[in-house]
Amino acid sequence: MTAVPQSDPFAADILAIAAHRDDVEQTCGGTLLRMAARGLRTAILDLTRGEAGTRGTAEDRAREADEAARILGVGWRQALELPDGGIENTFENRLKIVRVLRLLRPRAVILPYWQARHPDHAVVAPLGYEACFLSGLAKIETGSMPHRPFKIVYASLYADVRPSFIVDITPFIEQRHASLMAYRSQYANQAAGSSLFVPEEEIRERTFAEARHYGLLAGVKYGEPFVQKEVGLVDDLTLLPVQSL
Ligand SMILES: [Zn+2]
Repeated sequence: MTAVPQSDPFAADILAIAAHRDDVEQTCGGTLLRMAARGLRTAILDLTRGEAGTRGTAEDRAREADEAARILGVGWRQALELPDGGIENTFENRLKIVRVLRLLRPRAVILPYWQARHPDHAVVAPLGYEACFLSGLAKIETGSMPHRPFKIVYASLYADVRPSFIVDITPFIEQRHASLMAYRSQYANQAAGSSLFVPEEEIRERTFAEARHYGLLAGVKYGEPFVQKEVGLVDDLTLLPVQSL
């Protein structure tokens, strides 16, 4: 997806920030679809371009990421050029994210959970959090107005942690799967890296099983898990969702 000119900013309600193209499709693609169906404007910022991947080139992945964004109903998607496999939480990198936050001005930001097997995923959590904080400071000069998102939530699909809440993605599970399969260079059955990658059919079974697991925790068919650091605030006990008995 091409850059939105500064003179015509795309304001987003929700921005998902992730290390790699195809991360969002796996961890919160169903949630983005659900939010878009509610009429909210959604956006994705990938921090790397996937040049270190075993399969495909960064150009393949750019094309596939655009196609996935279209399937997810996302209005804006861009990739920064942080090194794939070597993302660091530096002031310079925080500033690159601040520029995007001030352009899109999202109310909610989705980050990956802070404990992860892949070091890139783990570092994006504090990097994104600190960028959200800096973005609200008037003294951090980027040539655009300060903006601090109201809410940060962490997509915790691959973390061994009890989620704070689940988003019901049941009506969107097939579309989410289609967005992941848009990455043909990564997921279509092929010889390159066949000892590292699971077959296409297996990806469907695994991702649906994970979504089923998290859905069951909240009494729905398919769900995506999130952690929020804040304690919830309740107005009316009789309107709390999810049955106890
Ligand atoms: Zn990743």
